[in-house]
Amino acid sequence: MTKQSVADKANPFEIAQAQLDKAAAKLGLDPAVHAVLREPLRELHVTLPVKMDDGSVKVFKGFRVQYNDARGPNKGGIRFHPEETIDTVRALAAWMTWKTAVVDIPLGGGKGGVICNPKELSDMELERLSRAYIDQVGRIIGPDKDVPAPDVYTTPQIMAWMMDEYSKITGGYNNPGVITGKPLAIGGSAGRGDATARGGAYCTREAAKHLNIDLSKAKVAIQGFGNAGQYAATLFASLLGCKIVAVSDTKGGIYSENGIDPEAVVKHKLSTGSVVGFPGTRPISNEDLLELAVDVLVPAALENVITADNANNIRAKIVCELANGPTTPEADEILYKNDVFVIPDFLANAGGVTVSYFEWVQNLSNYYWEEEDVHVKLDKKMTQSFKDVLVMSLDYKVDMRVAAYMVSVQRVAEAMKLRGWV
Ligand code: GLU
Repeated sequence: MTKQSVADKANPFEIAQAQLDKAAAKLGLDPAVHAVLREPLRELHVTLPVKMDDGSVKVFKGFRVQYNDARGPNKGGIRFHPEETIDTVRALAAWMTWKTAVVDIPLGGGKGGVICNPKELSDMELERLSRAYIDQVGRIIGPDKDVPAPDVYTTPQIMAWMMDEYSKITGGYNNPGVITGKPLAIGGSAGRGDATARGGAYCTREAAKHLNIDLSKAKVAIQGFGNAGQYAATLFASLLGCKIVAVSDTKGGIYSENGIDPEAVVKHKLSTGSVVGFPGTRPISNEDLLELAVDVLVPAALENVITADNANNIRAKIVCELANGPTTPEADEILYKNDVFVIPDFLANAGGVTVSYFEWVQNLSNYYWEEEDVHVKLDKKMTQSFKDVLVMSLDYKVDMRVAAYMVSVQRVAEAMKLRGWV
């Protein structure tokens, strides 16, 4: 069996539960609280018939999981992915619960997914699929129930169609607070586009201070060149002064010891469809990119890429997890033993949902903020959250992921107890 096929076998929801179990043991968590937190509170499975451009009807499967809303309305993105599974959506919904709690915003956790390959759909088909999904999950979402957002292969345009459909099926009035990550012209927030990567950059800045690493001399490798990876490349260079030496996408990676100009690679990808072939670089595989001798490694693609098979080969000092679930529990133990400082996913990538929260607040109050205000408020949230987790990690002598779970689980448990659920 190849390395990749072993990693593919890992069930993300079992991983999410195993991570929770570890933190629950450290906290001495009440067994009833623990039992509730191991499972989603609700989930809806939907079947979506969609008219294709050639006149045929194709049937898609979709999900929306509402993991826990003790702290506020469920919140989390919708993924369109050919390999989507209910267990992946469950894991991602659990991670959203910990994510909103770690940055202490008054929201719960949810996630949605549709099994489809958006790269094979026309814009019209994508629009019909997006509307069909909302026609089905519309009954359980809403500004005060569950607020979706973009995730892997979903875009601000898709959020616009979904918001429009929701407004239509709920009486036809404008209802922007049902979904975040919308385009600016219809109630999006300034600063939402790069928020995930920006939050990760703020966390990396704090981690570097703690570890005494000079980021202006640091080399960075980034796996994945979607929304998170692209903005990470530009922001790690412009905000932190790092040198980006490698980036990759699904077609492969590129490496240059002298550094890669992030803006130019973004343009290259826009015109050619991939980072591959960017002048002045040599090709590198997605697997080899992870093992480069860099200071900061940014996994910004999919789950289960750092596993027991390659964790011993990771040479970065800091791993900033912009992807959800890139590291398996076995790999976590190896990285901790090897002194690799991991900024865990639901802390490192919480900038996206934090600015989604700002967007929702702006929608509900119909008053919109300047981009600079968003940046300042985001920085404050990320810096405080990083510190809360670091203090927990030092106090309990646990890695940053266990510490982040401990911070979040305590907050969700307190809300459940106060409500009288447990
Ligand atoms: N999909 C993003 C995440 O995993 C953002 C979620 C949101 O903004 O609600 O954090």
